[in-house]
Amino acid sequence: MTKCPICESQNTQRMEMAFATHSNNYAGALTAPPRPRSRAGAAAGLLVGALLVLVGFLVLSGGGRVPGLMIGGAGGLILWAAGKSIAEANAFNDHKLPVLLADWKRLWVCLACGCVFEIDAQGGGRPVGDNAGTAGREDGTHRRGAGAV
Ligand SMILES: [Zn+2]
Repeated sequence: MTKCPICESQNTQRMEMAFATHSNNYAGALTAPPRPRSRAGAAAGLLVGALLVLVGFLVLSGGGRVPGLMIGGAGGLILWAAGKSIAEANAFNDHKLPVLLADWKRLWVCLACGCVFEIDAQGGGRPVGDNAGTAGREDGTHRRGAGAV
């Protein structure tokens, strides 16, 4: 049985299980796995940027030199930013996400006090993230919160 390192309750679950069981409520939101980064916003940016460059070009060829350059320049900037954000999203999804997901699969959650913890090599729980206190890291005797019985 896996004990919560904070309140010592045995009402604990693997993060993955907790998420599958409670994915429609608050606990589900709490235990949700890391998600791939969306590229939808950047794709919209590409579209808007390309459109502005086109409009700038039309204004420019119509004789409006300064506004044409300004509009086209703004479009170029948007294109550049959107391209950069897509590249970053790709890098995150390809390299960082698998690591985060693997970490997430190692996590447990205490259904009594809501603390998130991982199991170390000795089989003891160790709080992670916001719950990670400075005391009681190793032995799991650290008590905190009203959830302790
Ligand atoms: Zn607990």
